[in-house]
Amino acid sequence: MTAKAKLLSDYRSPEFTIDQIDLTIELEPQATRVTSVMQVRRQGRHNNPLVLEGEQLQLQSVAIDGRMLDATGYSQTDTHLTIAEVGDAFELNIVVMINPQANTSLEGLYLSDGAFCTQCEAEGFRKITYYLDRPDVLARFTTTIIGDASQFPFMLSNGNQVAKQQLDDGRTAVTWQDPFPKPCYLFALVAGDFDLLEDSFQTMSGRHVTLQLFVDKGNLDRADYAMASLKNAMAWDEQVYGLEYDLDIYMVVAVDFFNMGAMENKGLNVFNSKYVLANARSATDQDFNGIESVIGHEYFHNWTGNRVTCRDWFQLSLKEGLTVFRDQCFSEDMTGSAVNRIDDVAIIRSHQFAEDAGPMAHPIRPQSVIEMNNFYTVTVYNKGAEVIRMMHTLLGADGFRRGMDLYFERHDGQAVTCDDFVQAMEDANAFDLSRFRTWYQQAGTPEVSVTDHYNAETQTYTLNFSQQTPATADQSDKTATHIPLRIGLYDDTGAAIPLNTEAKLTDGNVYSLLTESASVTFDHVKTAPTPALLKGFSAPIKLNYQYSDVQLLTLAQHCEDGFTRWDAIQSLLARYIWQIADGETSTLPQNIIDGVLAIASDGEIEAALKARLLQLPTVNGLVNQRQQIDIHPLLNALDVIREQLASALYDCCLALYQQLQQPDYQLDAESIAKRSLSASCLGWIAAANPPAADQLCVALYNNSDNMTEQLNALTIANRFDLASRNSLMDQFEQRWQDDGLVMDKWLNLQGCWNSEQCFGNLAKVEGKPFFKLTNPNRARSLIAGFSAMNYRYFHAQDGSGYQWLAEKIQNLNSINPQIAARLINPLTQWRKFTAPQADQMKAQLEQIYQLSDLSKDLQEIVGKSLG
Ligand code: ZN
Repeated sequence: MTAKAKLLSDYRSPEFTIDQIDLTIELEPQATRVTSVMQVRRQGRHNNPLVLEGEQLQLQSVAIDGRMLDATGYSQTDTHLTIAEVGDAFELNIVVMINPQANTSLEGLYLSDGAFCTQCEAEGFRKITYYLDRPDVLARFTTTIIGDASQFPFMLSNGNQVAKQQLDDGRTAVTWQDPFPKPCYLFALVAGDFDLLEDSFQTMSGRHVTLQLFVDKGNLDRADYAMASLKNAMAWDEQVYGLEYDLDIYMVVAVDFFNMGAMENKGLNVFNSKYVLANARSATDQDFNGIESVIGHEYFHNWTGNRVTCRDWFQLSLKEGLTVFRDQCFSEDMTGSAVNRIDDVAIIRSHQFAEDAGPMAHPIRPQSVIEMNNFYTVTVYNKGAEVIRMMHTLLGADGFRRGMDLYFERHDGQAVTCDDFVQAMEDANAFDLSRFRTWYQQAGTPEVSVTDHYNAETQTYTLNFSQQTPATADQSDKTATHIPLRIGLYDDTGAAIPLNTEAKLTDGNVYSLLTESASVTFDHVKTAPTPALLKGFSAPIKLNYQYSDVQLLTLAQHCEDGFTRWDAIQSLLARYIWQIADGETSTLPQNIIDGVLAIASDGEIEAALKARLLQLPTVNGLVNQRQQIDIHPLLNALDVIREQLASALYDCCLALYQQLQQPDYQLDAESIAKRSLSASCLGWIAAANPPAADQLCVALYNNSDNMTEQLNALTIANRFDLASRNSLMDQFEQRWQDDGLVMDKWLNLQGCWNSEQCFGNLAKVEGKPFFKLTNPNRARSLIAGFSAMNYRYFHAQDGSGYQWLAEKIQNLNSINPQIAARLINPLTQWRKFTAPQADQMKAQLEQIYQLSDLSKDLQEIVGKSLG
């Protein structure tokens, strides 16, 4: 069956709504009974039947106002239950049976290592019972969970626990009530045996909130950081937005089988254990960061997502873009560091630009969707956050806050659209955002080209801008959009030149480019300046300006904006990587080598920033700079540049590396920064002198007691295939083989092992007892490690890398369609590559497309990629 697309333009408000639902769920791994009693009301004047969504349900009975319907009273398909004759307001009682144990899709009710849990966003509730499974139907939920309390000491659902009783048959019934009306995608149920970390938070109005963190038995020593992050997030939302938590209890459960990062179910967040469990021995600095941001993200959803939710799934960015923006700001405030911005931009450039240029291109508010799960994308989330950030840039922090206040004043308790959000921002500030709305309608990465002219006589400097958005797979015609450009001008010494202009600049130095072309003239400019045109990455665009090497070096060494410094070096290096790949030159000019060395030895640059400034451009980032790529010459060029820079940086990095060693593990920003710079130095040492690096890696691995440093050692040993690589990997496996979450790091390294033995090794690793294709974390670590990071072997000349991935996808198609649809991404980019790679990739996609049981998820993605 070929799946059909749903269109935003077809949205209709619901014909019925549900005010109240009382659920009774009798837990049994293979035969769970779900009884729902719903108060249903007709909306508007019509005589249409009631049509409910439902999938993989075994219907037991249907009753209206206490009267059983016989089979003539309703009709059923694989996806719907239709009840022809219903009144305007009635009680609907439905009983279904479901099989959680057979549910490997991890959507709906399923088992994670013996614990029951749910994932309902986007359209998973329909796998639990028949319902109006759409976000604009908001009901009050009461949930009674019945099960064996010795097996499931904790039976949890949304809201407050209101009753608990022992039944005659020995089972226990626990009842939960959520006072806030909510869409069913926010429903959650968890039942299992856990260790519990409890704490509390006093809100700014003095209310007491109980905080509970449930983790697998034996993991209490890994729960503290998540709890601390939760309290920080609660305080931050009060300080920055005046937003307080609204229930008496906030629960977080960590589970091992989870498709995504986490889920913001009202009062009962379910988390991938990767984003909860951490201590210094088992987790890296990066893991701790991830926990802080995901804990923050899900908490912030309580207002941006739950209190105000989405009218329909096309509006997903209403909650996701905004909430990612909020978690990014939270992390920036917690670490107080500029490098968060650099890391966020790197994601946009490496991944989002690729999506915008590829077969799945869509605006942050998509217009057409076959499988909603395919639209939890870096475009909706991260580009969505950039769009919110641009409004913040244009309106300033105070103006943005005014907009947020108005948004909540107008829409608390409602299901709304992205337009409603922009309207609130516009109205609260009397700021014209009409052109800005294009960002919600248009896919693709806008390109801004800039030329300039300096007039020495009049001491004026003119910038000429033009913008253009290339056609994308989903749309050919594009219009000009509202692009905020944060500008700075610098003289030859790198000193900032004050900006004098008649053009309107907001927030001091932000120019709004609103039309296809425009010019700005600056006065009293004493010498020809070097412009910085996208400070802080003020818009998610590509900026073209013909910088000289010397100008880029000036920005790299002197600009006060960390992003601009990083961007300047990235541009310089990319320029020569391409020239080498194209055979136009074979070396990096000496003045650039000297410039990079000057940065490495500059004692004034803080360690975290220095680590970023010493990064090479990523392969993905480079691939996104051109229409078509001959991958192997590009990889070779990167190696050339790496080696050349490495020999110049060697002495400096060796000295730095020694200076940066720390006696013990601390988790403050400065210690983290030092470890990150020290890892970067170790990488340069390895590129210049493998035997020297090998010794350092072995020493670091053995002498360190924390995962960050041990994994740094292992990563470098693996990347440069150092002599000790295999023995270190074995040591790690011995130590951690029973800990799946930690073994993910090892699996990922095996996936990206840049070695001729890579394919034989993959087969060996797949046979390990801790590797399970049914566990998304395990599957992702190994498979994406290979196909998204091991460029040389994924793109092996004989196509064997593509074939390996295609085999995994075929298996995952029937196990877990969501994960299959994510992991297939590298193959879908086939048009970016020259022959023979493109043809080999395409051939694999064609085979997958022929599968008889191909999921909706893969149908959409593979179909678009081939189409
Ligand atoms: Zn989210």
